[in-house]
Formats: sequence, C-alpha cells, structure tokens
Amino acid sequence: MDNLTMSQLLFPEIDKTPADYEAIYPARELPEGAKVTRFAPSPTGFLHFGSLFAAFVASRTAGRDGVFYLRIEDTDKKREVENGVIGMVNGLKQFGIIPDEGAESETAESGAYGPYTQSRRTHIYKAYVKDLVERGLAYPCFMTEEEIAGIRARQESEKALIPGIYGKYAKYRDITVGEAKARIDAGEEYVIRLKSPGKPDGRIKFKDEVKGKIEIAENILDIVLLKKDGTPTYHFAHVIDDHLMRTTHVTRGDEWLSSVPIHLQLFYLLGFKAPKYAHIAPIMKEDEKTNGKRKLSKRKDPEAAVSYYAEAGYPAGAVNEYLMTIANSNYEDWKRANKTGAIDDFAFSLNKMSKAGALFDMVKLHDISKTYISTLDTETVYNLVSEWAKEYDGQLYNLITRDADYAKRIFSIERGNKKPRKDIGKWSEVKDYYSYFYDETFDGKLGWADDVSDADKLAILEGYAKIYNPDGAAEDWFPQVRELAVSLGFAGAPKEYKQNPDAFKGHVGDVSGVIRVAVTGRLNTPDLYQIMQTLGADKVRERLETAINSLK
Ligand code: GLU
Repeated sequence: MDNLTMSQLLFPEIDKTPADYEAIYPARELPEGAKVTRFAPSPTGFLHFGSLFAAFVASRTAGRDGVFYLRIEDTDKKREVENGVIGMVNGLKQFGIIPDEGAESETAESGAYGPYTQSRRTHIYKAYVKDLVERGLAYPCFMTEEEIAGIRARQESEKALIPGIYGKYAKYRDITVGEAKARIDAGEEYVIRLKSPGKPDGRIKFKDEVKGKIEIAENILDIVLLKKDGTPTYHFAHVIDDHLMRTTHVTRGDEWLSSVPIHLQLFYLLGFKAPKYAHIAPIMKEDEKTNGKRKLSKRKDPEAAVSYYAEAGYPAGAVNEYLMTIANSNYEDWKRANKTGAIDDFAFSLNKMSKAGALFDMVKLHDISKTYISTLDTETVYNLVSEWAKEYDGQLYNLITRDADYAKRIFSIERGNKKPRKDIGKWSEVKDYYSYFYDETFDGKLGWADDVSDADKLAILEGYAKIYNPDGAAEDWFPQVRELAVSLGFAGAPKEYKQNPDAFKGHVGDVSGVIRVAVTGRLNTPDLYQIMQTLGADKVRERLETAINSLK
C-alpha cells in the first residue's frame, strides 16, 4: 500500500502503465531468427570512425531480414550540438549505412516504435519507474552532492567494497511516504534510485556474442534511474528503449561491458527478456612514439573523423569493404574466393569479430579502395567523381562536366578489361592523375628519363611526328614505334638490349618513354595509345611540337 502511495506521490501525472506500452509496442512480426539492432549515438554531430564501425556492425548484424534502427541518446544535454542528428545521419548515409527506421533529422523520424529520440520518451521512462516504485524496487533519494561526497570519503576510510550508493550507504532506501512528502513539499530535489537486490558476493554469467563467456560481479549499486530533472540515466533509458523497440542484439563499444550487470539486473527486474550483447573492441592504431597500440583518437588522428574519408573521396563501397575486413577476418578469404561477389552476399558474423580490437591500417584501406575502384564501370566512376568534385573540387567538377563524353573516355582507359588498372585509391587523386588530359591542369613540365640524350629525344620526337597516325589501329602502334627505334639505333626489344648493351643506344621502351613524356609529361601512365586516342590528333601534335621546340 505504501509503495502504491509513494508511486502516486512521485508520479501523479503518469497514467499509463507498462502494460499499456507493451500493447503500443508489440513484438515485431519478422521472419524467424531475424535480428533487430540499433546504433544509438549522442547527437554530437561528430561521427568517429569507431562509431561508423559500430553502426556498420549493427546494420550488418540485422542484415537483409532484420531491422536496423537509429536512436538518438540525448539524455546528456551537454554533449548535444545544433543539427547534430542530421550530421550523424548524413555521415552514415555517405557510407551507405541507411537505417531501416528511426531518427532522420532533428525533427523527422520513421518507424512504428518511436519516438526514437530519448528526450521525447520521458513519459515512457516515468511509467516504468513508477511501476518499479510501486513494486518496492525504486525509491526517491534526497541526498545532496555534499552528502554523496561525504559518503565517498567515508567509503575510502572504511575501505568499502566498492564506491557508490548501496546497502548501509543508501540513506533513503527505506524512506517512508510521509518523509518523502514532507521533503518534496519543502522543495527538496531528489533522484529516483533503483533498490538493487544484488548481493555483495553475487556473480552473474552471460555470453557475449563477441567476447564469449563472461563471469562478473552482480550489481549491488542503487543506481540512479531518473535524474533530478526527471530525465533518465543512460542505463535506464537504454533498457527501456531496447526492450520496447524490440531489440534482439545490442552491439556497442566494449567500454559498456562493465555495465552489463546493471543492465541485466534492470531487464530482470522489469520483467523483460534481455537482448544478446555484443561488445565491440575499439579500433586501435599503431603508435609511432611508443611502438605500442592505442585507440584511434579524435584529438590526435585526422582519420578518426568520418568526414576525413568523404573529403578524401574514398568511395562508400571501398570503405564498406575495409570495414568488413576489420570486422570479420575471414572476409578477405571469402573475397578472394568470390572475386565478383557482392559484400551483401558475405555471411557476416559477430562471433568472428576480433575480441581485442582491430588495427586501423590506412595503407590497407587505400589498397582495398584501389582494387574496388578498378572494378567499377566507367559510368559509375564518372558519377562518383562528379558527385565528389561537386562538393570538394570545383575545378575538377567543371572540367569533367563541361564535356562528359571526353571525361568518360578518360575514365574508360584500361577499365572494363580483364586486368583493370589499379591506380586511383580516392577521388582526390583523380585531378592530378589525369592532369595531362586538360590544358588547365597540365603544367607542361616534361619529366624526361635521364638515360636518353637530348639529341636522341629530338630525333625520336621528330621521327614520331612524321609517322604519327591518329587513325592507326592499336595493334599497329607499337610495331611502328619499334621500327622507329631500330632506325635510330635502339634495340627493338629490351631483351636484345640487355644481351648486348654496347651495341645500342637503348631499347624500344626508352623510345616510347620519350613519346610518353612529350605527350603527357610523365614516364608512367596508362596505355599511351589509348591516351593519344582520347586526347585527339590536334592535341597530340601540339604536345609533340612543344616538346620538340623545347629540345631545340
Ligand atoms: N549513447 C551510447 C554511446 O554513445 C550508446 C551505447 C549503446 O549503444 O548502448 O556510447
């Protein structure tokens, strides 16, 4: 009776019961075994690479059959920034992670299990706390900050088992309705605490989907459920939300592992079936200074911010491949065996995740991205480059959109064949990589090799200018250059030259190298014949002429 009176004293405005909410948010109708997961960030606007990874893991865990939703945990108003939600949503979207339901912006959301923003769920939390009070499992605590500090000091001197409010330190555990009412009437502030049934020597066991079997001390703390302003703590809110949103798998950073006893106790006391937990180790980075490993840090590492990858122009597909590589070590083997297989066909599994924390490896990401980009078709490359350039490189955007056909011809060089060229790892490399295709970006510098004399260069270019045939077939191109080489005293094949170096000035490769530098400025480019076909006869002649004049 007293508990009932207490609950009515504390929550006179709350008229819904847990049973009402159970009916409002019924079990989901999903195929057998389908998983429901979530990504639950604070709306800080900043998306850390580790958070992207957590969201990736959650979305992959839900897979095709399940539901992956975005919940905004804004109970800590200090961490909030303006438009933080849309910042996180867009950050995820850039990498192809699009929740099935949940928050979409500061104001919009979709799905039948909302609101998905915790600050809009206070009435729900209160209904459950009211019920706990009514069942004698929660109570108002009027302790002041000073009193709590005093208890901490006392616990230190008494060498208490653990610090915090529990057992004999929990001053208001057995407060009467009368006292509570008097204090409330006197305007005293209070929080609502759990009356933890945990025993000091109690242990709990559970199986974490990533870390395996865990045995850990049970919770004995009378943790805060509702803060003074009536908002819930993270612990309490997440339990209510994960239950009512019918979450089956909680995937989150392993800094929460030590809180599981609190969470499991709350699930139990509230009469909810606990979800499965999967605690993800943080992404680590090699620390040059200490030669050890440390967490990827927002402060020290620019690549910790997801915006870094968008700015650099790593395609979403490549970043996803990289994320999968660090998520499941067997992915790379699978990929080798299924070269053309789509990432969605790979069976992601939580128990194949690294328990200790994957090592971040920029070189590997870049390599994966090169391979990924090499497999894209011309049209896709064109679209992705222009999308990126529109945002980050106005000059490149203008160049490739003013003549889309020309740009597509450039991007199609050594693409779509059996062994596509793997050169570009990110879109920010495109402008420089193809700079010689546009006068605006071609700086005219000719990076000659050292081993051909200027006189020979001149002879090669003058000779080539004469035989250059823009309509010639691909297979005739190199034999012609070989003929020219031989006529100028170069060996027709590198092997021939190696066998008798004193007999030649060099070999056909040196000759084509001179032509290549004259046309592109560089010694190393994709297929020169295709480059010349793309540039067109006028431009090729102009470049040859300029180079010839520079040698005279
Ligand atoms: N809001 C929590 C965080 O940002 C979420 C933890 C969880 O996923 O349960 O760390």
